[in-house]
Amino acid sequence: MFHCNICGSGEARAEIVEEVFNLNGKHVLVEGIPAKVCARCGDKTFSRETTEKIRRIVHGHLEPAKSVPMDVFEYA
Ligand SMILES: [Zn+2]
Repeated sequence: MFHCNICGSGEARAEIVEEVFNLNGKHVLVEGIPAKVCARCGDKTFSRETTEKIRRIVHGHLEPAKSVPMDVFEYA
């Protein structure tokens, strides 16, 4: 049962998303992640299995599929 941590909505869509993760100051982008996206606020939630698999991917010794330049903006 979905319950959004941000807005409390119980409605979510299953979507394939991409997400940037910060590994000790190095940012990595993971594409094609199955997520539940809150229908109200758009917050992404990953299952425990998905989170664990992402952790293995980004902390593993696999070569990334590709490398893209990324601009970083500071909000404050
Ligand atoms: Zn929400």
